[in-house]
Amino acid sequence: MLIVQKYGGTSVGNPERIRNVAKRVCRAKDEGHDVVVVVSAMSGETDKLINLANQVSENPDPREMDMLVSTGERVTIALLAMAIQSLGYKAQSFTGRQAGIISDNVHTKARIEKITGDRLRHAIKEGKIAVVAGFQGITETSDDVTTLGRGGSDLSAVAVAAALKADLCDIYTDVDGVYTTDPNMVPQARKLDKISYDEMLELASLGAKVLQTRSVEFAKKYNVPVRVLSSFNDNPGTLVTKEDSDMEKVVVSGVAYDKNQVKVTVQGVPDKPGVAAKIFNTISDNNVVVDMIIQNIGEGGLTDMSFTVPRTDAKKIQEVMKKVVAEIGAKNVTVKEDIAKISIVGVGMRSHSGVAAKMFTAMAKEGINIMMISTSEIKISCVIDAKYTELAVRVLHETFEMDKAA
Ligand code: ADP
Ligand code: ASP
Ligand code: MG
Repeated sequence: MLIVQKYGGTSVGNPERIRNVAKRVCRAKDEGHDVVVVVSAMSGETDKLINLANQVSENPDPREMDMLVSTGERVTIALLAMAIQSLGYKAQSFTGRQAGIISDNVHTKARIEKITGDRLRHAIKEGKIAVVAGFQGITETSDDVTTLGRGGSDLSAVAVAAALKADLCDIYTDVDGVYTTDPNMVPQARKLDKISYDEMLELASLGAKVLQTRSVEFAKKYNVPVRVLSSFNDNPGTLVTKEDSDMEKVVVSGVAYDKNQVKVTVQGVPDKPGVAAKIFNTISDNNVVVDMIIQNIGEGGLTDMSFTVPRTDAKKIQEVMKKVVAEIGAKNVTVKEDIAKISIVGVGMRSHSGVAAKMFTAMAKEGINIMMISTSEIKISCVIDAKYTELAVRVLHETFEMDKAA
């Protein structure tokens, strides 16, 4: 078999852990498999680099940012290759460029366009363990280093697995699978044997950082079987795969939380055609992604409108909205930072009713006020005060009896 293994930041967080990863990689080789390893930077390293950038510039240039943060993974590929070699196995490290990971040129959140992978194939043929830098790519036209967004090494691994037609893509992390909710927040969280691509996609995009959203999108598109496992033990992990009829039986399979958004409210918006278009066109022209939107019933020709945007865009949105407010003749704009989005996810929601009512009742019993609501076929999200995050997650986990297997 050809196996792609990905090790996250905690798993390669110090020299001892890197030696531990080397042993695991060699074990797979001993079992007769060809192995390609994708690694993240040592834990905390990417944050440290971003912090450095912010100390020398108020608005770091995205191209230079990518040049900077891509170095984190360069350290770990070399160290892991050395550690593997010291165990008597052949290994070679590859940067994104050397692996042929071609992306578009949207710095700091580039998309992978294709992976040539010739050198990886050649290394495998020579019996080497190829060690590839996660999170980074290269633009085809300008030959510039790009990065794939936070948590992007998951995407690198899945994309390499798809390009090499690997039999399996194993994502090794600091928990031994995908749980009903973050096991580091709720001890009663239960590990799932398997989860559908769609549910995983929702959980990831709603804040469960165990897999990066785009890696799941990619896995679904190219049908890559993904397993999430621990690099610290040999417990069976979670398989992320196509939906089957078992999965429909469970109404709610997981709870996710996201504290990385802020809520923007525009008050006294003239209630007439074209105003919403003006607001959201301007925001989109400034490359800010809007998530939830609500508009209140208008009174006296005026209305209020609220929406959420990523926390990283909080400063930018304030500036953008100030101008828009003046242009459309609205009263004012406020940004609320201390909010959280709590979501429940499950493919079973398609065929069960009363799920939203049960969710809102559970929150009401705890005195948690809901500021915004959004739903899709397989998820319900509520924006609440950030201080109730943990309480809400626990209560919903209990209400939908997620600690019990179906
Ligand atoms: P890595 O550095 O290996 O990429 P991450 O920190 O990105 O690891 O992701 C693993 C973390 O995801 C876990 O430590 C856990 O706190 C968090 N997490 C959030 N939601 C879930 C969930 N539903 N199941 C498992 N882990 C989750
Ligand atoms: N090192 C990058 C990050 O911290 C990519 C990753 O770990 O997946 O976001
Ligand atoms: Mg991660």
